[in-house]
Amino acid sequence: MVILLNSGLMSDFKSDSGKLRKALLKQARNARQSAYCRYSNFAVGAALLTESGMIYTGCNIENASYSLCICAERVAFARAIAEGHRNFSAIAIAGKFQDRDVDSEIMKPETDCFPCGACRQFMSEFCQPDFKIYLEQQEFTLGELFPGAFKL
Ligand SMILES: [Zn+2]
Repeated sequence: MVILLNSGLMSDFKSDSGKLRKALLKQARNARQSAYCRYSNFAVGAALLTESGMIYTGCNIENASYSLCICAERVAFARAIAEGHRNFSAIAIAGKFQDRDVDSEIMKPETDCFPCGACRQFMSEFCQPDFKIYLEQQEFTLGELFPGAFKL
């Protein structure tokens, strides 16, 4: 899904980052419902905010050939980049196991789902170190989660 924020909402979000975080996490959880994760049963949604006020969502997409699986974060970035966006402000990520009733920390929907190393490198191609990464419980900058990114 692609959502265009109006300028009022954008300035609202700039003055209240808690509101932005909440809105992006909600979109990430919605996007998670489209996850194709029949092998891991771990569904992830992501919502990426461009500097121009568009939100692109993504979900993880698995494949029987495991190495072809793609993460929700890179799906969101790929959609935005393919439409010409190059500048991004923040991403929210929400992951959880589906249809499992196991009492462990990673099974809980409110457990933070960190971006994998590949996604952190992917983000570093387009995002500055102050790019915000919102998880269910915590928030980070890209610089905090991925210092020393590979650059050419
Ligand atoms: Zn990833």
